[in-house]
Amino acid sequence: MAWTRFGKKKDIPGGLWIKCESCGTMLFRKEFEAKHRVCGSCGYHFTLPGRDRIALTVDEGSFEEFYVDLYAEDRLGFVDREPYGEKLEKTQEKTGEKDAAIVGTCTIKGFDAVIAVMNFKFMGGSMGVVVGEKIARAAELAMEKGYPLLIFSCSGGARMHEGPLSLMQMAKTCATISRLGAAGGFSICVMAHPTTGGVTASFASVCDVLLAEPGALIGFAGPRVISTTIKKELPKGFQRAEFLLEKGQIDRLVPRDKMRDELARLVAYATGADAPAAYGGSKNGEEKAAASSTEEAAEVANVGQAKPKATGKRAKKREQA
Ligand SMILES: [Zn+2]
Repeated sequence: MAWTRFGKKKDIPGGLWIKCESCGTMLFRKEFEAKHRVCGSCGYHFTLPGRDRIALTVDEGSFEEFYVDLYAEDRLGFVDREPYGEKLEKTQEKTGEKDAAIVGTCTIKGFDAVIAVMNFKFMGGSMGVVVGEKIARAAELAMEKGYPLLIFSCSGGARMHEGPLSLMQMAKTCATISRLGAAGGFSICVMAHPTTGGVTASFASVCDVLLAEPGALIGFAGPRVISTTIKKELPKGFQRAEFLLEKGQIDRLVPRDKMRDELARLVAYATGADAPAAYGGSKNGEEKAAASSTEEAAEVANVGQAKPKATGKRAKKREQA
């Protein structure tokens, strides 16, 4: 490539350019960040840090974080390249986070919600006791407040350093989300690249509506493990969001820049709120937006096989009727 003519790599101003992992195009970092880490050439969605995800999704200043004091412990005395306890400390220092999930309440275009975001930068977004507990508490908080639950999953799976304790989080998170559903609550999971292992196999897959970002890898075991086990070549696009949409595993593909709008619409639809409001900038809506609402609302109603349930008030009204 032309820029290699400048000589050694250190001659290039550090961090100014970034190479697309998918198409190899050199992207100007400023533009890349402005596009929320989506490749301007091929549309590849890079992993988005947890805090950036929240900033991109919620109404400015509306996020209130919960359960900030939860932290993990090395209960098993686990050592791989280094003791797990040391690794935890180092990662906490490097990321400024206590663990791989961030939970809180927020508004999205004026609609109240509980939001849970996984942070891939923290040990590959792996689910240990803290992540499991935070997701479970997020579901309980949604139940208590009567808000919809929005989860952004992005994970390499269960955290092996915590052994069976991490696997137990799969049952716990599924059980609380199931209770949320039974209580008339509503949940959405947005599967971002990559959503794999015990996270796909638990809470990420059991929400009422499953969305995914384009190109996201979503699966349990990796493709290589599967193909060597079953001794067959896997179909093209296997475990990618587009393939899973076709097979009915997920309900809709939503590009990153459209996600906030889509979530507001789904929440409006599910909670029985004034749907046209979701198309405008605020809950009170804008007349201009209302004009196209009927068509889009109908489209939202057709989302996959999901049958979003109404939350508290609306469900009660229906029962009385
Ligand atoms: Zn690209």
